[in-house]
Amino acid sequence: MAEVTCSFCGRNKKDVDLMISGIHAHICDKCVTQASQILQEEKKNKVEGGTLPNFKLIKPREIKKFLDEYVIGQDEAKRVMSVAVYNHYKRLTQRKIDSDVTIEKSNIIMVGETGTGKTYLARTLAKILQVPFCIADATVLTEAGYVGEDVESILTRLLQAADYNTEAAERGIVYIDEIDKIARKSDNPSITRDVSGEGVQQALLKLLEGTAVNVPPQGGRKHPDQKMITVNTENILFICGGAFEGISKLIGRRLNTRPLGFATSADVDPRDFDRDNLLQFVSAQDLKTFGLIPELIGRLPVLSFLNPLDHDTLRKILTEPKNALVKQYKKLFEMETIELEFKEGALDFIVEKAVDFKLGARGLRSICEAIINDAMFELPSDKTTDRLVINRAYAEEKFNKSHYSKLKVA
Ligand code: ADP
Repeated sequence: MAEVTCSFCGRNKKDVDLMISGIHAHICDKCVTQASQILQEEKKNKVEGGTLPNFKLIKPREIKKFLDEYVIGQDEAKRVMSVAVYNHYKRLTQRKIDSDVTIEKSNIIMVGETGTGKTYLARTLAKILQVPFCIADATVLTEAGYVGEDVESILTRLLQAADYNTEAAERGIVYIDEIDKIARKSDNPSITRDVSGEGVQQALLKLLEGTAVNVPPQGGRKHPDQKMITVNTENILFICGGAFEGISKLIGRRLNTRPLGFATSADVDPRDFDRDNLLQFVSAQDLKTFGLIPELIGRLPVLSFLNPLDHDTLRKILTEPKNALVKQYKKLFEMETIELEFKEGALDFIVEKAVDFKLGARGLRSICEAIINDAMFELPSDKTTDRLVINRAYAEEKFNKSHYSKLKVA
């Protein structure tokens, strides 16, 4: 009788522990184990790339077009964000098995005055994303062991956004607001422990670069009995934003001190840069001077800026976006069957006040509220009115009556 050999590796029956026989072939236990490993590997690769669940690659142009419907101006930041998010998706769909080039993630840092739309941009982005997304505030973070939240709390939020699906959270996007507030407080870190500044920056490093982190699923402090969820941050995209108050001065100083004659084509000639908007020239060096540690800056390789909002932009923000304030108020009144109209003069007045208070677009909302609150209080009980026209005189009168008029202009 012919000797039985494995049809895959050719080993003899006497050289293996077990030989399984099929109709026309045999397979040894070693080959079964190996085949099983290949299967496992293939399954893993499918999850890590290639065939991720319901992934539709949204191209940067489409992402930006969507952002344009809500966010006025800020073209540069929108383009940078669109590309970063697109690349994030591409990175997730990269099949590790057939690639010798690993795409690294490009975490982003955005610099822009308060109320210029950093958070709004991130929030709007979240609407089209097919990955979990959360917003965290850097000001509440402290170094582990001190009063405040540990950096891991950011991931708790992401896990919640992902309905505790760890795999989904591990592909998510996190927006960290007010990153400037954890800048190093002084040039001499040795005097007192800087637990909410440099300490947090240090703690964030490992999160940003990609590591396995034990996360308390319900947030709060870690304590020994709590069951932790391990989240790997390798594929999580981090976007940081901050106002970096005073950074324009640092940028100006840097641009002024660059020796003329050494400028390359990429540099700006200090004689003709736009002094009103120095933020557009922000560089990693300025962030370092401001108090971010170089290691953190290194892990946020994409740097973008948001423009200050001028009169015209604020005016557009009031009326143009899909969910513009004026449209929202009209809708609220429409639900009371009252037609609401804002005259041009009133809109100009609102914008002038927002500029005076230097609150960016954030001021628009509160000024509108101050003007329209009386009407919103009275009209729902008043059956005789079906139309309200807000002109400049009306706006001025209501505004002057409100506590806002007593506030000092910034
Ligand atoms: P930041 O995070 O930069 O301090 P926000 O994103 O919180 O500012 O902006 C405050 C509000 O102002 C937003 O909720 C949004 O309604 C409005 N806003 C700000 N910038 C824009 C913009 N460029 N286009 C449309 N609305 C904007």
